[in-house]
Amino acid sequence: MQVQAAVMPTPGQIEIREFEKPTPADDALLLQVDQVGICGSDKHMYLGHTNLNFPVIPGHEVVGTVAEIGKDANQVMNVMGGPIKVGDPVTVVPGSKNCGKCYYCLRFPHRPTLCTNRTIYGFSNCETPPHLTGEFSEYTYIHGNSWVFKVSAGIPEELRVLTEPVAVATRAVERAHAPGVPQVGAGYGIGNSVAVLGCGPIGLLVVAVLRSTGAGTIIATDIVDSRLDMAKNMGADVVINVGETSPEQRLEQVQDLTSGAGADIVIECAGLPSVFAEAIDLVRRGGKVIEVGHYTDSGSVNVRPHQICNKDLDICGVWAYPQIQFQTALDFLERTRAPLKDLITHHLPLARLEEGLQMLGEEGVYKVVIEPHAN
Ligand SMILES: [Zn+2]
Ligand SMILES: [Zn+2]
Repeated sequence: MQVQAAVMPTPGQIEIREFEKPTPADDALLLQVDQVGICGSDKHMYLGHTNLNFPVIPGHEVVGTVAEIGKDANQVMNVMGGPIKVGDPVTVVPGSKNCGKCYYCLRFPHRPTLCTNRTIYGFSNCETPPHLTGEFSEYTYIHGNSWVFKVSAGIPEELRVLTEPVAVATRAVERAHAPGVPQVGAGYGIGNSVAVLGCGPIGLLVVAVLRSTGAGTIIATDIVDSRLDMAKNMGADVVINVGETSPEQRLEQVQDLTSGAGADIVIECAGLPSVFAEAIDLVRRGGKVIEVGHYTDSGSVNVRPHQICNKDLDICGVWAYPQIQFQTALDFLERTRAPLKDLITHHLPLARLEEGLQMLGEEGVYKVVIEPHAN
């Protein structure tokens, strides 16, 4: 039997190709892809902003059904909520298990995304069998070094495809927690004011996570009014349109809302260098800036290091998330009251992936979901 998959032979091109349906090895499984979300990073890949070993089958935000499973897979893989069997709904972490042997694994095992030997579904070369290394495909091959999470029945079916972006959003908020012994005013805590800059899917999910984790005033900024409306629906208290205000006006507004100090936490979700610079302006002295928007390199910006020094700032990057973060994401999806289903605006068959990539970023488009088995 042949499997249809969307191959990116080089940036800017998508071809639907057929591959022989592989039989999983003893430690692997074959996943029927039910839904896979298009991520901003897929669009960056399409636009040539990433340096990958093409051809690549993109797609890394998957929910699917176990189609075939090797006899040792439950023992070899990291399986959560298992054992898993044919017919089970699962989601798979894009990043493989870390190697355990590189410089970072040996010294910082609690920070698995620093590992330099991970493979990542949706970002790997697909030239050699079993080929199906990404998830914009009818089936995908899940190798033994994977983390697989069984999806519990309590998680609404339409929200399951958000597991991966929610892992990103929960990780971004966790990065604002204070390390070590908590002290009053150090790091994100109950009642803190947070400014979320940029209201694409990640920014909106960050707002929803903040609302349910006890944030105080949540301020969201974007240039598109409908995204700001969506931010309000997700739980933002105050929204500011950056197209209608000057940086000085925004600073004044944020200070007015925070006893003159600035936001306790600022989370940069726009992926624009100028917005990172603004985050440093908007945060209070002793506050935290979280940088989660720049998964690809979109250039540089002037900052004044004196501000960082004088404000005694913490600035934290977020590079994906530890694999176990998927459990946090699934628990959040099971319990949240935020209207997350409003974030899933389009469903397209595999043949229309290119159209989906092109529409990403347009007004009214949040998460576009590919359904490879739909017509
Ligand atoms: Zn993603
Ligand atoms: Zn490693």
